[in-house]
Amino acid sequence: MSLSINPRSRQIKPPGIRQFSNQLIHYPDAVNLTVGQPDFPTPEAVKQAGIAAIQANQTGYSHNAGLPALREAASRFISQKFNATYDPIKEIIVTNGATEAIDSIFRTILEPGDEVIIPAPIYSGYEPLIELSGARVVYLDTSHTGLQPDAYSIEQAITPSTKAILFNNPSNPTGVTMDKQRIDEIVEVLKNKDLFILSDEIYSENVFDGQHVSFASYPEIRRQLFLIHGVSKSHSMTGWRIGFIFGDAEWIATITLLHAYNTICASVPAQHATIEALTGSIDAPLEMNKAYRVRRDFVYDRLLKLGMEVEKPQGAFYIFPSIRTYGLSSFDFATRLLQEGGVAVVPGSVFTPFGEGFIRISFAYSMEQLILGMDRLEAFTLNLQRE
Ligand code: PLP
Repeated sequence: MSLSINPRSRQIKPPGIRQFSNQLIHYPDAVNLTVGQPDFPTPEAVKQAGIAAIQANQTGYSHNAGLPALREAASRFISQKFNATYDPIKEIIVTNGATEAIDSIFRTILEPGDEVIIPAPIYSGYEPLIELSGARVVYLDTSHTGLQPDAYSIEQAITPSTKAILFNNPSNPTGVTMDKQRIDEIVEVLKNKDLFILSDEIYSENVFDGQHVSFASYPEIRRQLFLIHGVSKSHSMTGWRIGFIFGDAEWIATITLLHAYNTICASVPAQHATIEALTGSIDAPLEMNKAYRVRRDFVYDRLLKLGMEVEKPQGAFYIFPSIRTYGLSSFDFATRLLQEGGVAVVPGSVFTPFGEGFIRISFAYSMEQLILGMDRLEAFTLNLQRE
C-alpha cells in the first residue's frame, strides 16, 4: 500500500501562539499573558438570546449565507459604524468565525503561484491557509517603521503575481492601528489595481484612542475589498464561532457556494445570539474597552520604565515591546521568562521572522495578573542585565 496525503497539508505547522500556553501545565504558578481572548463573559442579553433560540427549537440549518435577520443586522452595523452599504442578501455571508471567512476567501480567489502581500509582524493564522492553495505569502517588513505599512513600500512590493494584499487593523500582535491619512495613501495606491484587498477588522470595536478607520468606507476600492469581521473579540464570543464576509455580490455568490459545501451554515443558535450582539448589545464593547484602556496604560508605563522600546497600542488587547537589547532571540527570551521568571508571553518570531526581537503580551487579563506579571518581568530583566 502506498498512502499519501497532500504534501501541502504535511507542511502545516502547529499554531505557535499556543506553544507557550501549552507548557503552562508544567508551570502552575506562572502568570499567563499569552491568550488573545477577552476575559469577560459574553454579555448577558447575548447569552439569553442564544438560550431562547435553543428553547424555541431554532436549532436546524439556516440559509447557507446565514439568517436573513442576522445579515440585516450586520448590514446596519457596517452602515452605522463604517458608513458602508452592503446588501444583506447578496453581499454578506455569516461564517464560522473570522477564521472561516479568511479561509473561504483565500480558497476562492487564490491559485498556485499567486502572491499575497501581508505587512508583518502579523497574526500567524493566515499563512497556512494561503499556502494550502499553493499560493505564496510575501511579507512586508514593518519592524523598523513603527510596525505600520506605508503606501510606498506596498507599491514597491506589488508584482504581476500579486493576487491580494491583506491588512489587519487594529493589529494582532502589535495593537497598532492605522490612521486615516495612512489608509488614504494606501487606498490611493491600491485602487484600480488588479488585486484583491482583504481587511481583517475583527478588532475594530476594541479601539481605545480615536476612531477606527475601515477600508470599507472607501467606495473606490469596493469591488476589490473583502471586509472580514466578527463578534469573537468585540463581544467576548470566541467560542460561539460567528464571523462575517462583506464583499462585492459577484465574489460573495461564489464564496457562498464553497461555504455551503464546507460548512452548510454557521451555528444557528449562535447566529440568533449574534443578532442581539449587533443590535441591543451593540455598545457592549465600550464597557470592556474601559478596562482594556486602564490595563493598556498600566502595561505600557511599566514597559517604558523598564527601558523597553514599545509602540503604544491603540487597539486590540496586545502590546509588542522590543527585547532586542537583551541579546536573546525572542524564543529564548520567552522560554527563560517562563522558566526563570514565571511569566508566559508569546515570542515575536511566532508572528513571522519580522517579529523577531519582540514579545507579545496580551492584556486581556485582570489587573492583578498584569501587576504580578509586570513585577516578575521587571525582576527577570534586572537579572538578565546582571549576567
Ligand atoms: N483574525 C485575527 C487578527 C485574530 O487575532 C483572530 C484570533 O485571534 C482571528 C482572526 C480569528 O477570529 P475568530 O475567532 O472569529 O475565528
